[in-house]
Amino acid sequence: MKNIISASVQDRFWEKVVKGPAPGDCWLWTAAVADDGYGRFTLNVGGHTQAVRPHRFAFHLATGIPLGGFGPLMHDCDVPICVHYSDAAELTHLLEGTDRANMLDRLAKRRDKNGSDFRWRGLAREHFAARSRALRDEVRDYGWSRPERVRSLIAGVDPDAPTLF
Ligand SMILES: [Zn+2]
Repeated sequence: MKNIISASVQDRFWEKVVKGPAPGDCWLWTAAVADDGYGRFTLNVGGHTQAVRPHRFAFHLATGIPLGGFGPLMHDCDVPICVHYSDAAELTHLLEGTDRANMLDRLAKRRDKNGSDFRWRGLAREHFAARSRALRDEVRDYGWSRPERVRSLIAGVDPDAPTLF
């Protein structure tokens, strides 16, 4: 399947993404982050604007499956603003699925990715959004040029005060 997103819109999307230096690193969204902690990418569809979560858009671009045509996507890196989808199971950070038990099992087996140890889970919504925005701000302003800070923020640790925030 081929997606129907124009090259210019695809360019506009990828301009907002910073990819980590290693093949298995996160690809981080650097634009708008909503109060739910997930990014937002605005599309113009038939004269109407539509905001989509960037990781869903990345999956759509890679697979050609229509945006409304697939179920939940889970992040096995645990980072809500990551858009790293790959056909290669050892590289992808996004897993498609609706069977929660199955997904949790797969996630548990791969929880060492990023060493995040699920520190993003179970957070209050405002903390979840604050973490996403802190990570977004870092990669938007500095790219991946301060990798120790990026990795701290991915792991849910405040690099200026080594505590969970
Ligand atoms: Zn990731």
